[in-house]
Formats: sequence, structure tokens, C-alpha cells
Amino acid sequence: MRIGVIDTDRCKPNDCRIASQKPLCIRFCPVVRSGGEAIIFEEEEMDHPRIIENVCTGCGICVKKCPYDAIHISNIAEELKTDFTHRYGVGGFVLFRMPVVKPGKIIGLIGPNGIGKSTVIKILAGELKPNLGRPGDDPEWDEIIRYYRGSELQNYFTSLSQGQIKLAAKPQYITKLPEVVKGIAKSLLDKVDERGCMKNLIESLSMEKFLDRELTVLSGGELQRIAIAAVVGREADIYFFDEPSSFLDIRERLEVAKVLHELADLGKTVVIVEHDLAICDYLSDFVHVLYGKPGAYGIVSHIHGVREGINRYLDGFLPDENIRFRPEPIVFHLNPIASDGWESMEVVAQFPKIEKTLDNFKLEFEGGKIYKGEVIGIVGENGLGKTTLIRILGGELEPDPGIELPALDLKIAIKPQYLKPNYDGTVENYLSEVAGKSYHTSLYKTEVLIPFNLKSIEDRYIKELSGGELQKVEIARTLSTPAELYLFDEPSAYIDSQSRLTITKAIKRNIQNKHATAFIVEHDILCVDFLSDRLIVFTGEAGRKGIAYPPIGLKDGMNLFLKNVDITFRRDPRTGRPRINKYGSELDRKQKAAGDYYYISKKTEN
Ligand code: ADP
Ligand code: SF4
Ligand code: SF4
Repeated sequence: MRIGVIDTDRCKPNDCRIASQKPLCIRFCPVVRSGGEAIIFEEEEMDHPRIIENVCTGCGICVKKCPYDAIHISNIAEELKTDFTHRYGVGGFVLFRMPVVKPGKIIGLIGPNGIGKSTVIKILAGELKPNLGRPGDDPEWDEIIRYYRGSELQNYFTSLSQGQIKLAAKPQYITKLPEVVKGIAKSLLDKVDERGCMKNLIESLSMEKFLDRELTVLSGGELQRIAIAAVVGREADIYFFDEPSSFLDIRERLEVAKVLHELADLGKTVVIVEHDLAICDYLSDFVHVLYGKPGAYGIVSHIHGVREGINRYLDGFLPDENIRFRPEPIVFHLNPIASDGWESMEVVAQFPKIEKTLDNFKLEFEGGKIYKGEVIGIVGENGLGKTTLIRILGGELEPDPGIELPALDLKIAIKPQYLKPNYDGTVENYLSEVAGKSYHTSLYKTEVLIPFNLKSIEDRYIKELSGGELQKVEIARTLSTPAELYLFDEPSAYIDSQSRLTITKAIKRNIQNKHATAFIVEHDILCVDFLSDRLIVFTGEAGRKGIAYPPIGLKDGMNLFLKNVDITFRRDPRTGRPRINKYGSELDRKQKAAGDYYYISKKTEN
């Protein structure tokens, strides 16, 4: 079966042709040239061409000819003919199948952006009535219910059609919350406390300290917890959380996991999209992998137990559907990458002990050497001064009086934590401003545009980008800025799990090739593992005192960090993937006794 999708945001039929000629895709289609109608464009009636899927031979010539990358042609399995769920208009994105809805369980959806996760949620919420792949035909509920006969969805759609399902949903971009809701945090929470559980939620999510503040002054991590509590407090049947972990530290991520498990234990259905794989693993009971071609079609995999589902996602292969959706598996290090040998590298800077006092907060950084070519992960709970340290190292903030920083002449480039798209041009304009002529070189293409998947959005306006796209552009811009010291504050936010791993590799390779040095503040532990040569660990008391240790090797750093937050990771026996241990489980206690918080040594194995 063939799917032909024209991306109407990208397609510009008046720009891709000369005068009265037909658009390029039509002019070059061999079927059209021999009198057939594989692609049509009735200019009076249509804004964009349309592929006639049962006539198109799938040769792909139009895909190559279109100057705006607007055409997707895919051959997909015949079996999917009976699995259509929804199509956004003729020639629009197609969603195949739906996840299983299980009351009392947490279902995780894993997949890249643009693959149909929000479409799934809109359908479950009753905001979008599935058209079973027949746009314009709008099937009645009776037919939809019959279509899903024999599956859990039959009952679900029956209740939904009778208006008996209520959904409460947390959106992905919580930093926009203060634009929509005004006032102090507590009054918002009081308004949505339909289940009478807010008092417990405030305690479980450690929100007391900032309840009396205006939403506009809250940090991303604080807003995230408010947004989660505002959804959990609602009386609903199905709860959806889009990226509940962004901007939260690892301990807060686990607090959220506990709250969501309690919600499921009440018999509620909980659906999450979570790109931190360790947290998705810890949170979900079951997962569905969404695969396909972002922007063209998405297929919801069969349901899998969480361990097996995430392993298969990492494998890139679903044996029960005989589908390979990624050419290579994602592989984890069982042992830390070698962190010694830096002594022989060139020292970039040697920092003395740095202190900084801000109102009631004090930061102490023990100082230390940094070397050329290394990536230093910065880990620790929120409120311990990670961003403050970055700002001091970056020269934006002065340390306390009397502390002399080495006279650094380093050029610095920073990717801040929160992104505010305030630029009128396109992605290409924005990146060329810093990359200059090198933007058009093949090196830039292979080192930046391809790994960051920016080639297809080069001509999009910065202000129109999604959160994930903007994050990638900002990382790329930072890396393209000529500098010796690069600082990235939470580069993984809003980026899907597979892109997180490709992007971490690209950052690392870029830094090594430039012989520069990078500091990266990151909470996704798998990204920290992939990225870091050494770690700066923060401990202390949030909002009062932060202590930052000198950079140390990954093994010692992970142990120091995870010991502080009291969390251990075991390894999945088949893929080596790190999995969070249940607090107090036999393995958790054994690993803590052996001092193996992340990498497993012989002491735990014996
Ligand atoms: P995800 O949530 O996985 O990022 P979405 O469900 O938002 O994916 O989108 C999947 C595809 O469907 C995207 O290509 C998007 O542009 C398209 N799409 C979403 N909503 C509409 C709509 N109302 N009309 C046409 N296309 C849409
Ligand atoms: Fe032109 Fe591409 Fe649109 Fe065809 S799909 S009309 S080639 S922009
Ligand atoms: Fe025509 Fe080939 Fe494009 Fe199909 S894939 S519309 S046959 S050019």
C-alpha cells in the first residue's frame, strides 16, 4: 500500500515553477508524462497538488525534484489497510492503530515528534473524531465502535460517544503557563482541586516553598510541578502528561512518578509521553512505540510490557510486527568511558575555589582544572546553583569580592535553559549569522545540519518552530559560534529520546573536533552518560547552599551524585540499559552496600 503526503506548510506551488509551467513535481512525474494522473493539481480548486496513491508507482522522482522537501511517498505493509485510524484531509498525515487504554495502568508512548502522539491524545479526549482514514466521509460513532470491535477501544469509544469520558491533560510547553493563567500558584491549584487531594500533592511534589509566588516568577521546574498538580487534582477518567519530566531534577522526576502511580492505583487511566527513557521505564506499566515517517504517517505498535517495549525501541526492531524502524540499535556503555589521561591534555583553565553569595543563597565551587576537548557534565538537584556557576564561568556574574578568577581570555558561547524565540528570520538566516560562510560547506552539513536534522527546516521561520526544533537550532547555533568554552543548560528538553542520543553524540564530536571545552547541565541520566567525559557534582540544600566539587571521572561522579539523591541503577541483562531500582529493593540495598550506584562492579555481582 502506498501513502503520498504533501506537507502543505512547505509546499509552495507558485515558487517552484517558472511562469505558466506546471509545478516541478508534476512536470517530472513519469506517470503524468505518459498521460496518467499520479499527481494532480486543479489550480482553480486546489491550493496544493495531491498524489493519487493508487495510480502513483512510488518512483520517488517528485520527492527528489521538490525544492522544498514537501513530498513524502512511502510503501507500507498491506496489512495496515484495515488499521487506519485517522487521516488529516486527503493527502494529509495518516495515523494507523491506537494505543490500548487500560484503567489502573500507566501507558507510555515513545516516538519522535510529528509521529502522531498528539493526534492519539486528541482522539482519546474526544476532541478529534477518528475518520478511519476516510477524510470527508466522517463515519458515525456506530461504525467507529464496530471498527474497534473485540478490542479495549470498543468500550472506550462507546463511552466516549456517550460523553462519559473526561480527560485531563498537561501540555508539553509549561513555560507558556504564566501567559495563559495569571495570579499566584496556590490560587490556581485551589481552583482545580476537584478531588480534594491538593494538600497531599503539595507535599508529594515539594511545592510548599513557592506556592505563594506569582506564576510569572517561577522556574521551569516549579511550573512543571504546578502544571502536573493542576492536572492530577482534576476529576477525570483519563489523564495525559506530555513530557512530565522536563526541567525537573532526578529526585523531582521520581516524586512525579510516585504521584502518577498513585493516580493509576485509583483505577484511572494514565497516558504519558516521556523522552527520558530511564523515567519512562520507571513510570510506565506498558509502552507503545510509535514509528513511521514524521509528518507523513505514524503507526502505533502493539502493546508491550515496559521492559521489553523499551528494549525493542532501543533495538530499532519490533519482531512481532517484523519491522525495523532504525538501521542500528542504541547501545549503552557497561563501564564508564576512560576518564583518565586528561593530565596529558592541554589545560584550558585552572579555577581557584569560587564563592558567590546571592541573598540567602551561597554557592561554593571547589575549583579545578579543565582540559581541551572534554565535555564536563554538571549534575545535581535544582536550586543548588548550577546555572549560577555557569554564569560565573561564562563571565556574566562576578564571584564574591576578593576572589580572583584567572585572567581568562576565553571566548564563550552559551545555550540558556529557557528559549525565547525572538528572531524574525529563517533557520538558515539564524545559523548563518554565526557560522558565516562555513554554513554552506559539506563539513557543516555532516557535522551540524544532518545530525541535528535541520536540513528539512532550513527555510522555516524561527518563530514558527516547535519546542524540540527550536532546541536543536539553539544547540546548533551555540556550537556554530566560534568559542573556546561552550555552556549548554539542559539541552535535552523537548527533544525526543532518539534525537537526544544522536544530538549528544554530535555535541561531543563537535567539541572534540574544535579542541574546545563544554559544560553541560543535564538531568537525563542516559544523556549524561553518553555525553560526559567527567562530571562536576553539586550537593547541598536547594535554595540555601550549593557545593560544587572539582570535575571527577564518570564512575566516581555518578556514585557521588546518585549517593546524594539515594538512587541506584541496575542494568538490563540484554541491552545493558540502565534502569532505576525500586527504592529499598534487594538490588538497591546490595548496590548501595557495594557503592555501585550506576556502573556495576564485581562487588555487586558477587
Ligand atoms: P506528535 O504529537 O507525535 O508530535 P502530531 O499528532 O502532533 O504528532 O502530528 C502528526 C502529524 O499530523 C504532523 O505532521 C502534523 O503536522 C499533522 N497534523 C496535526 N494536526 C493536524 C491538523 N489539524 N490538520 C492537518 N495536519 C495535522
Ligand atoms: Fe512545488 Fe514541491 Fe509543492 Fe510540488 S510539492 S508544487 S514541487 S513545492
Ligand atoms: Fe509520480 Fe513517481 Fe511522484 Fe508517484 S512517486 S507521483 S509516480 S513522480
